[in-house]
Amino acid sequence: METPNEQRPLIYDLSFSDLQEAVKALGEPVFRAKQIWQAVYVDLISDPEEITTLGKSLRQKLGSSFRFTSLNPITTLSSSDGHTIKTLFELPDKRAIEAVLMYYDERQTLCISTQAGCAMNCAFCATGQMGFKRNLTSGEIVEQVIFYAKQLKSEQKVVTNVVIMGMGEPFSNYEATLAAVDRLNDPTGMNLGARRFTISTVGIIPMIEKFASEKRQVNLAVSLHAANDELRSSLLPINKTYPIFALLQSCRNYVEQTGRRITFEWALIDGINDRDSDALELAELLKGLLCHVNVIPLNPTNNFSGQATTQKRAEAFKAILETKGIPCTIRLRRGIDIKAGCGQLASQHE
Ligand code: SAH
Repeated sequence: METPNEQRPLIYDLSFSDLQEAVKALGEPVFRAKQIWQAVYVDLISDPEEITTLGKSLRQKLGSSFRFTSLNPITTLSSSDGHTIKTLFELPDKRAIEAVLMYYDERQTLCISTQAGCAMNCAFCATGQMGFKRNLTSGEIVEQVIFYAKQLKSEQKVVTNVVIMGMGEPFSNYEATLAAVDRLNDPTGMNLGARRFTISTVGIIPMIEKFASEKRQVNLAVSLHAANDELRSSLLPINKTYPIFALLQSCRNYVEQTGRRITFEWALIDGINDRDSDALELAELLKGLLCHVNVIPLNPTNNFSGQATTQKRAEAFKAILETKGIPCTIRLRRGIDIKAGCGQLASQHE
């Protein structure tokens, strides 16, 4: 009897060596794995019937052994300027996740999810407010990139950057997240360079240390948002487990071990963490560290009373950091008209 589709392994969950094993198990010569890999990751084919480099019988075997998609796009929203597109996907178990495509002049950046929901419960985050549902598999993470890569291909464009800043805490789903990066990084497949990825963490210290020891080329961003424990714990409850001093220690260790610059994220909240004194406190904390600060005016969410900083205040904050020698960029809030902020669509859907 044939395995029902939803119980078949997802093709994107397989590493190349898994695929070689699977091909052998189907009684096929192992070189077929390379053809399938290229069809999936270079030609972006998601229907085995269309893999014309394979014979008919293997195409059929593939189709009855594997699932070629797990993401069902439910809603697609485009910002009024057309530069930001957000898709709400439903997974086979009806969980909802989101991914965002952002067009810049020369780049196309994706923001993807690693969990359905999130356990970190950050006060201002729409995903945090919905709670944790489950980890995504590596294949479910990979498929978000494939989905948009296909769309971009039809526009003669490619994915240039991937930020792992969608729903979920990537370092609470470490293995699947890094397996997804490795799969997309494979030079015989999608070949997305490691430096094109940025992983954003709320600050799970043991995983920052593990990540540092692996000496990857992937960029690391840490969500700081506050420079003292009292404020940070009230916004990011995980700070009670991994407080600022220890977190900064692990960040310094990361920079030392990898020689790579670290990014700190700071959502500017009116009157809460956007004052001159906050900027000075932050500058003191980051003194001497090879880093960059990305500030973004808060994207207001339903269950958090904080409001966005004005552009003027954001500029003043940036200026203070810069006089203290700390590079700072003010990020634009993209797609605010389509609820492109983390988890805003999925929490409505759930
Ligand atoms: N769990 C990871 C990725 C989450 S989302 C992390 O914490 O880094 C990526 C970034 O968006 C994080 O810095 C997060 O704090 C921030 N963020 C979440 N909700 C936001 C909001 N409403 N406005 C501005 N930034 C927000």
